[in-house]
Amino acid sequence: MLDRVFLFLGYLAAGALLGLWLDGYWPESHFVTIGLVLAAVGWMLLDSTRASQFLNWLRLDSAAEGGPKSGVWGELTDRVRRMLRERERQTRESQARLQDFLSALQASPNGVMLLDGEARIEWCNQTAAAHFGLDPQRDLMQTIGNLVRDPGFAGYLAARNFESSLTMPGRDSTPSRPVTLSVQLHRYGDGRKLLLSRDITALEQAEAMRRDFVANVSHEIRTPLTVLAGFVETLQTLRLEESERQQYLALMAQQADRMQTLVSDLLTLSRLEGSVPPGLETRVAVPTLMRRLEADAMALSQVMGAAGETDHQFAFECAFDGYLAGAPSELLSAMGNLISNAVRYTPAGGHIGVSVRQRPDGCLIFSVTDTGPGVAAEHLGRLTERFYRVDRSRSRETGGTGLGLAIVKHVAQRHGAILSIESTVGKGSVFSLIFPASRVVPAAVMVDAHTVAGSLAARPDVPMNAAVANANPG
Ligand code: ADP
Repeated sequence: MLDRVFLFLGYLAAGALLGLWLDGYWPESHFVTIGLVLAAVGWMLLDSTRASQFLNWLRLDSAAEGGPKSGVWGELTDRVRRMLRERERQTRESQARLQDFLSALQASPNGVMLLDGEARIEWCNQTAAAHFGLDPQRDLMQTIGNLVRDPGFAGYLAARNFESSLTMPGRDSTPSRPVTLSVQLHRYGDGRKLLLSRDITALEQAEAMRRDFVANVSHEIRTPLTVLAGFVETLQTLRLEESERQQYLALMAQQADRMQTLVSDLLTLSRLEGSVPPGLETRVAVPTLMRRLEADAMALSQVMGAAGETDHQFAFECAFDGYLAGAPSELLSAMGNLISNAVRYTPAGGHIGVSVRQRPDGCLIFSVTDTGPGVAAEHLGRLTERFYRVDRSRSRETGGTGLGLAIVKHVAQRHGAILSIESTVGKGSVFSLIFPASRVVPAAVMVDAHTVAGSLAARPDVPMNAAVANANPG
């Protein structure tokens, strides 16, 4: 500020000196006063020019170079410029932070929507837009109530009680492919609202499956239990002949067996679901496995035959002399279940073929072919569902639980295998397990596999259906 005063005084001094000099030529003419006034006016003009230069710069393009370069106005220009640049930098930083924040919200798997005090959309991420069928650009500042027409949502919005969430159908929901959303509003700021939406379709389906499963299990257990309770009551209240008593006890034992098989299959399934898939360390010798399956198949066919004789014509063909990596008891159970189904559903005199061979691409195919009733195409996709049966009475008559193919599917998945089903009504079916080449080991490569094969052969008493229940799949 001092230099400004000195500059002004300098101007005055220059004016006074000029006046003194002129006074020398024309005395008594007050040139000193005139000089002083002119100097003061000149200084003011110069200062005003700089001030207007500064104002123009500030008004027009304050970020650019320009404006007064020297003096107080020059320094003012410089300081204002620096201040503005600092503020610009801060604005850029805040914008970048805001963008990061919005990108994070955009990446959220849940829908996020910001509503103003009038319930107009200020911002929403792509997920929310998809959930409610909105366009995140076009529908900005539109009232949400006008765009989401679901009556449940309109009621939730109007009730203004946002303590609990609302379950409503998503925009793309159709009767064949329902989509369920869980939606909740949260108040924040000055009357604003945060709308969060979550796709809970899978959760709802899992819950429905759980309910169905419990209902199915209860139903499956209730039927033999009711029969058992009936026989117990009969035995308690009626005086029966010994032969009748024996007959009733045999029927009771049959029902108890049925419940046992069901519980055993349920335990197997839960074990398969809850344990880590088998690795590649344990292997089973395929020819030994086939011998074991053949013996079990014969035994089952004999049990089912009227006179204790094998009712079916079997053809076992093992065209692979090597090893399969996996849990032996699980593999035995899965393959055993397929053979057991063929035996149980194929009428007496029918033909059952069991084969194992390696494909040129290294995969191992285990196939069970039968000349049974076959399965109509519309049932094929559902056969591996728990408790799904095409012929309910035939399944029950032959001791089926409706869980066999569900177990086979699980074992297949755990071994990276595919279960393929081909069937023609009236002609028969082919159930195949296709194991990946990574699990197939040729005999020449294996040295220590016989220990595993030995452990299988050492348990000839394990029935086919129950084999996996006794296993340690981990
Ligand atoms: P189940 O214990 O009833 O046999 P599964 O899960 O093993 O249960 O099989 C499901 C259904 O698939 C059976 O109820 C039966 O209707 C059908 N099925 C399975 N295997 C065969 C087969 N080889 N031939 C005809 N139908 C079969």
